[in-house]
Amino acid sequence: MSVNFDFTGKVAFITGGGSGIGRSTAVEFAKAKASVAVVGRTDSANQETVELVQAAGGRAIAINCDVSDEEQVKNAVNQAINAFGRLDFAFNNAGIEPQGAPAAEVATDEWNRQISINLTGVFFCMKHQIPEILKQSGGAIVNTSSGAGVKGFPGAAAYCASKFGVIGLSKAAALDYAAQGLRVNVICPGIIETPMMDRFSGGTEEGRAAVIAQEPVGRMGRPEEIAGTVLWLCSDLAAFTIGTAVVVDGGQTV
Ligand code: NAD
Repeated sequence: MSVNFDFTGKVAFITGGGSGIGRSTAVEFAKAKASVAVVGRTDSANQETVELVQAAGGRAIAINCDVSDEEQVKNAVNQAINAFGRLDFAFNNAGIEPQGAPAAEVATDEWNRQISINLTGVFFCMKHQIPEILKQSGGAIVNTSSGAGVKGFPGAAAYCASKFGVIGLSKAAALDYAAQGLRVNVICPGIIETPMMDRFSGGTEEGRAAVIAQEPVGRMGRPEEIAGTVLWLCSDLAAFTIGTAVVVDGGQTV
């Protein structure tokens, strides 16, 4: 099945674009004729996504950036503007997985790492993207939370705190900019088959079965099943959808 979005002339900035959900979303944006800034902290991975975008007939550039460093984020947004002249959409999706320790055993460094990448990184991105998007009289931002942004999970205190935080940050920003035509929304993926999920499950038969057991639908989601919702949230079909957290999780948190 395919839905044909048309983002001709528009520019999308995608963090965590070098792998998994971000990579798939970059390719889907390209198929919809948007130009794409593929942003992430692994240059070779960003470059591979650019090649996939080009193979799909799209235009993209790779931008190396650690989203937890504000100066790097500011430079990354500037590089996207220099390359494409405008910014219409942002998918703030870079993130790291939980480490599995009970709350009282979470090392303070690990707490800070989770919050600085998964939450503060989203804030830095929005802070520097919003003035550019407003120059186009609006656009759309989609931030990646998680099922762990709407429900607690054991061994994931810092991750849950960061992902619940993404929803609060996004809802407040959505109200700040709704009247100016900039829509901010959130996507909350369930268990999606990506390199992150491979690391989290251990990638073994047993580990995969254990995570799939959390999914009423009986399988993992595919990255393109998240990408489709992100594109819809950026499209005019979602013009009245503001500040919402869309859970796409095969029923995991129902
Ligand atoms: P992934 O590991 O395949 O991709 C994450 C990307 O983010 C990688 O390219 C990585 O290099 C990049 N990244 C990590 N830290 C960064 C930093 N500091 N600066 C810039 N880039 C950085 O993972 P994924 O599964 O595609 O996850 C994407 C997002 O979806 C994450 O925010 C994750 O928390 C969220 N999520 C994933 C799942 C899942 O089941 N896969 C479920 C819920 C939420």
